[in-house]
Amino acid sequence: MAKIELMQLPYETDALEPVISKETIEYHYGKHHKNYVDTANKLLENSNFDEDATLKDIIRESDGALFNNAAQVYNHNFYWLSLTPTPTAIPKKLVELIKRDFGTFQNFKDEFIEKAATLFGSGWTWLELDTKEKLVITQRSNANNPLVDLHEPLLTIDVWEHAYYIDYRNERKKYLEKLWDLIDWKFVASNIVDYYHDLTEPCKEASELCDYIDMLQHENEPTT
Ligand code: MN
Repeated sequence: MAKIELMQLPYETDALEPVISKETIEYHYGKHHKNYVDTANKLLENSNFDEDATLKDIIRESDGALFNNAAQVYNHNFYWLSLTPTPTAIPKKLVELIKRDFGTFQNFKDEFIEKAATLFGSGWTWLELDTKEKLVITQRSNANNPLVDLHEPLLTIDVWEHAYYIDYRNERKKYLEKLWDLIDWKFVASNIVDYYHDLTEPCKEASELCDYIDMLQHENEPTT
């Protein structure tokens, strides 16, 4: 039987203070995220997934409650990894790629925050690579994620109320503006590089994206 693990939080529960309080993370990770893991595992007991099914397999091949809970596990894993207590500069080649698709970096930031702020109800805002390898920002309700459209997820922000209500009450936009400074751009860049490595025939045809990826990889290499 397939089993889903609760990922280890990549930092301490107070590491994102004052932007996200220890109390929020204790509820968000320790209760909400954990509950999705536990519920998905209970539902898997009565499913046909075999033990080597991955979380992505389960998301792509399930619906209803199992999809909702498994996708919420994936989305939360991605959210914690999208944030860092020690943000660094955005890789230059990532900025170029963003400019290619959004005109300016400011346009990109404005669109991301606007879409996250205006998503009706509960859900997630994602930066993803679409099937034409273009960067797009999406509003996805409830547990929805880019995998269902065969898009490559690069970055996500949780806009369910439980993500910000303790710290910001109803002020979702304030939460988003503060959280922006904790985005882990190296994680975003590494997802683009991983996408390239997972292609069966990486960059067979010379494309603009391949050039960016090649340069991103080098930019992410540790300098000596
Ligand atoms: Mn959440």
